[in-house]
Amino acid sequence: MKAAVLYGPRNLKIQDKPIPSPGERDVLIRVKVTTICPTDLRKYTGHSTFRKPLILGHEFSGVIEEVGEKVDFLEKGDRVTVLPFIFCGNCKYCRLGKHNLCLKLGGIGGAAELGVKLDGSFAEYVKVPAENVYKLGRNMTYTEGSLVEPLAASLGSLLNAELKPGETVLIVGAGPMGLLQISLARIMGAGRIIVSDLLDERLKYAEEFGADVVINPMRESVYDVVMRETRKYGVDIAMLSTGGTITASLASEALRFTAKGGRIVVFAGVWPPTNTSLDLNAIHYGERKLVGSFIYSREVFSRAVEVAASGRINLERLVTHRFSLDDIEKAFQVALNKEGLKIALTP
Ligand SMILES: [Zn+2]
Ligand SMILES: [Zn+2]
Repeated sequence: MKAAVLYGPRNLKIQDKPIPSPGERDVLIRVKVTTICPTDLRKYTGHSTFRKPLILGHEFSGVIEEVGEKVDFLEKGDRVTVLPFIFCGNCKYCRLGKHNLCLKLGGIGGAAELGVKLDGSFAEYVKVPAENVYKLGRNMTYTEGSLVEPLAASLGSLLNAELKPGETVLIVGAGPMGLLQISLARIMGAGRIIVSDLLDERLKYAEEFGADVVINPMRESVYDVVMRETRKYGVDIAMLSTGGTITASLASEALRFTAKGGRIVVFAGVWPPTNTSLDLNAIHYGERKLVGSFIYSREVFSRAVEVAASGRINLERLVTHRFSLDDIEKAFQVALNKEGLKIALTP
């Protein structure tokens, strides 16, 4: 089979590899659509470590080609997507259902590197544990199937934020994750949705996905707009969905424009790790909460499959570019240049 194998920073080779044979509790999937995630880009550019060589790719959908002997709930021909993290199942967090916090979090295609590590979906075929496989809804496209993974992470963030109907949400960062959060916030009953981003092109997408108010902080102060839009109360939820060290200063700044009882969600990792100082009295007297959100549990992923199957979110619209596997380096370059939104590969 054809596979894109990463040997080191910017050292990606299209190779002919043997088709993996599934173990008794695995399935073999013929990959139909796989989308590029910032995690893949960090490994490609050398900003994140991984065991080498590795086939990247953890957002994907496809058709089951072969099932292991002990797999009785899936069959050849099923159209599926995959939860790309491997949970140990035995640590305290796994047993509490908080799989995302697993002490030995492993992954498919470099999604996580602590526990079990498996090759990913930037290939014609991928072998995965059957328990990680979810069937697509009848009307779902393969592209929608591939986007269940980022949808699940976004859904987890709004569930952690404990969004209640009518609440005002600020989403900082209108990349693909921010756009999914806008869509989810809408169907979960948010009141006003305010979105900020430095790129005007992304603000246009934000409006298309349902933002009520958009802000480019290069031109307008987020604080001023939030105060104007919320009768000076501030937002109920400030979702920090932009990557990079800016998140550290945003977290302390967000305390100034988050309403009492509001939640500030740190959704993106901060690399390199950066500390920040916080006004603890704003947390104490205003009962504001600082909340972390990192990927999803099995429960949240299952819910994301149902949300995607409902057709109530325009997932197809997120994919702006498609490439064949042979052109993966071109695809990575488009993603690195932040052209468009999601970049899909069709192996
Ligand atoms: Zn991802
Ligand atoms: Zn665990």
